[in-house]
Amino acid sequence: MRTHRVDVLVVGGGAAGMAAAAAAARVGARTVLVEEGARLGGVLDQCIHPGFGLHRYREELTGPEFAARLVAELDGVEAWTGQSLLAVDPNRPRARTVGSEGLVEIEAGAVVWAAGARERPLGALRVPGTRPAGLFVAGLAQRLVNIHGLLPGRRALVLGSGDIGLIMARRLHLEGVEVVGVVEIRPHPGGLLRNVVQCLDDFGIPLLLSHTVVEVHGRGRLTGVTLAEVDGAGAPQPGTERFVPVDTLIVSVGLVPEVEGVPFAPRDPATGGLAASTRLQTAVPWLFAAGNCLAPFDLVDTVATFGARAGTLAARHARGELSPAPRPVPVRMGRNVAALVPSSLVPGEEAILYLRAREPLDRARVTVGPDGPTRTARGVRPAEMIEVRLTAEETAAMACLQEVAVEVTALR
Ligand SMILES: Cc1cc2nc3c(=O)[nH]c(=O)nc-3n(C[C@H](O)[C@H](O)[C@H](O)COP(=O)(O)OP(=O)(O)OC[C@H]3O[C@@H](n4cnc5c(N)ncnc54)[C@H](O)[C@@H]3O)c2cc1C
Repeated sequence: MRTHRVDVLVVGGGAAGMAAAAAAARVGARTVLVEEGARLGGVLDQCIHPGFGLHRYREELTGPEFAARLVAELDGVEAWTGQSLLAVDPNRPRARTVGSEGLVEIEAGAVVWAAGARERPLGALRVPGTRPAGLFVAGLAQRLVNIHGLLPGRRALVLGSGDIGLIMARRLHLEGVEVVGVVEIRPHPGGLLRNVVQCLDDFGIPLLLSHTVVEVHGRGRLTGVTLAEVDGAGAPQPGTERFVPVDTLIVSVGLVPEVEGVPFAPRDPATGGLAASTRLQTAVPWLFAAGNCLAPFDLVDTVATFGARAGTLAARHARGELSPAPRPVPVRMGRNVAALVPSSLVPGEEAILYLRAREPLDRARVTVGPDGPTRTARGVRPAEMIEVRLTAEETAAMACLQEVAVEVTALR
């Protein structure tokens, strides 16, 4: 087995990993990036729709175009594709990988975990019924259509109106599949308003709010699903059931952060992702994290920004230049917050928090801590993350708090 010594090891070649590796190399760190797939890009590779890069490159790019820009920034990075991580030593920044480079032991000064997220399957929803052919998570259907040129079926229903579900409804429609509708359990769409308009309204695809799939039918192949209306708590209402004949069900009900490769690193119980501070450093000081392994992000631009920050700080840690952080103060989801990253803030340092509101609000106040800083926001939608920037003075004032709750409330 070959041993390779570097300053920074980055695991995952998606937007977060590539941005981390490029940033680490830019500040002079010997950097290796390990990607188990055959190509760099991660999920971007299969997202052939436009809508990427408006913030980072001030251009509207497709996913593969955005990925190509990041690949071009990998100057000085050794990028190994087809190389999968076997294990990370919990006691020191050392990992074993296997693949086209053979079995390699990598000794590093710091590790950036950027392994992305995987999709929540139908099993996670406990929908009763059979499990015939014709059930697909949206990312798999997207890969079949966009990469392999295969259609998953002829008549489809999409469960979940997040951006991925909306985009897949349009994609299947454009490929000639009859998309009978998109079903959403909540009373409002999960995805961006522009995606509701551009993916559903423009093509006459119905959106069924406050509904869900309560049963799956079929033996060899899916023959249909039963839909029902739900109440405010998401419970199906007896008497509202109806059978919808379809041969394909596209399930798009959220992403789960990919963190299995670092079982020793603490998780954030609220997101299921790695718990990291605003330095993107976990409780294991040499382990940094970025991208969807923290929590699913809405915009790739944000993922790349976080990636670059994690890469720079990992390089500084590897060179012994990163001063130990004062005790991080945990940040917690308060009223009307459905997701919040990172999990803690470092007092006395500038911080960026990203959060998702649970309910839409036209005008909102975001409060960080009981008497802490407030920010206002307009047009708050659960699909769009809110960015809250805190100054070093504002975080320093929180140093003695046990935790800080973040809230999003209506502003009149
Ligand atoms: C369908 C869809 C549509 C989207 N549309 C938009 C949009 O229009 N605009 C926008 O801005 N954003 C969009 N996003 C969001 C954005 O693209 C993602 O949040 C971002 O690309 C995620 O990057 P990542 O690096 O965190 O994860 P990923 O892209 O998932 O990359 C993780 C990488 O890690 C690798 N990996 C995992 N485990 C290992 C291991 N053990 N060893 C080695 N490698 C490993 C994986 O193979 C993968 O390549 C969309 C996302 C999806 C899924």
